[in-house]
Amino acid sequence: MAPEIGALAPRADFPVLAANPGLHYLDSAATSQKPASVIRAIARYYETSNANPHRGAYKLAAAATEAYHEARGRIARFLGVTDADTLIFTRGTTEALNLIAAAWGRANVKRGDRIVVTRLEHHANFVPWQVLANETGAEFVIAELNADGTLDMDRLRSLVTPRTRVLAFGHVSNALGTVNPVHELVAVAHEVGALAVCDGAQSAPHLSVGIDSLGVDAYAFSGHKMLGPMGVGGLVMRRELLEAMPPYQMGGDMISYVGDATTTWNVLPHKFEAGTPNVEGPVGLAAACDYLTALGMEKVHQHEQALMRLASQRLAAIPGVTVLGPSPEARSGVVSFTLEGVHPHDLSQLLDADGVCVRAGHHCAQPLMRALNVHATTRASFYVYNGSADVEALVAGVESARRRMVG
Ligand code: PMP
Repeated sequence: MAPEIGALAPRADFPVLAANPGLHYLDSAATSQKPASVIRAIARYYETSNANPHRGAYKLAAAATEAYHEARGRIARFLGVTDADTLIFTRGTTEALNLIAAAWGRANVKRGDRIVVTRLEHHANFVPWQVLANETGAEFVIAELNADGTLDMDRLRSLVTPRTRVLAFGHVSNALGTVNPVHELVAVAHEVGALAVCDGAQSAPHLSVGIDSLGVDAYAFSGHKMLGPMGVGGLVMRRELLEAMPPYQMGGDMISYVGDATTTWNVLPHKFEAGTPNVEGPVGLAAACDYLTALGMEKVHQHEQALMRLASQRLAAIPGVTVLGPSPEARSGVVSFTLEGVHPHDLSQLLDADGVCVRAGHHCAQPLMRALNVHATTRASFYVYNGSADVEALVAGVESARRRMVG
């Protein structure tokens, strides 16, 4: 018997887990649970400092402005971003990627240009580029994968021609867990002067990303996948690009002066944050960053790796199970698998009866599912509050589903 792996973070820190003692939550790639410290930080903000920031001259409005500003600084520090004003708050990864495609894309991509994305992308880093290409007449090209679900870098290199304006790639695949070689991808993009856009939805929660040192031009992430609340995430983009590109949405706060005929824009980050901002989101997310810092991101990564390896090994030993994606060395804390003779939706419902929460479906990656020749997979994903007991519950559930459905 392998030694037991305890949870890295106490379950008691997470009210949902404390309220559901038998629950094996293995769907953190979809969204993470929230520690009490995050929930408390949000409540405290509303109890002590709530007002509309940037607008009021009174002390309470100044407190709200300060809470918002201070949260941006803490989140930027956690993500390794020196120039905090280049962190634009958005609703999450989806909005951040749409912002780039709409604001930077419309100003910089024209007919005959090329946009390259990878076969691994989540729809949020695929569809905005596909639509931009269709609207502008640019060519939309998909970089294919090796058989094991890693990027075929030789083919990708040959696709990124001097006409290429954008290379959009995920840091970590949500569907397979593939970890992509970001530095190499950035070098390929920059060799031809293309924008290197990184979808960090599945890396910011799990790795010490150090965005500045990645060298990417733009990085998008979601707070709710990294112990923070829903409805907040961000775009980090090079200052000169943000300053040169047009705004995404127009309205309050993002203007410098509104003339009768034309308007000038506010400085960063306000230029890209039109309207009343989500203040409690950044406040909660900053508390989540503090919680992860206290755990230590290197430990978080090692913990997930250990659980992923254990789950991969145990599941692969069940007859009829195929674990998809690259070998554990090239994979993050995600195990995507199929069980012959059992549809992933049926499997996830049977697992739910045992208190095991997993995701079944196409994982918002239909182009990838087509290439894998499957309609859907079952995906277990691990985080700080999981331990080997969760893996054992998953394995037992899959074994029992197989006995019931396959015989
Ligand atoms: N990209 C990846 C890789 C993701 O996993 C997700 C969330 N499933 C997204 C983008 C979209 O994130 P959100 O729904 O938080 O905007």
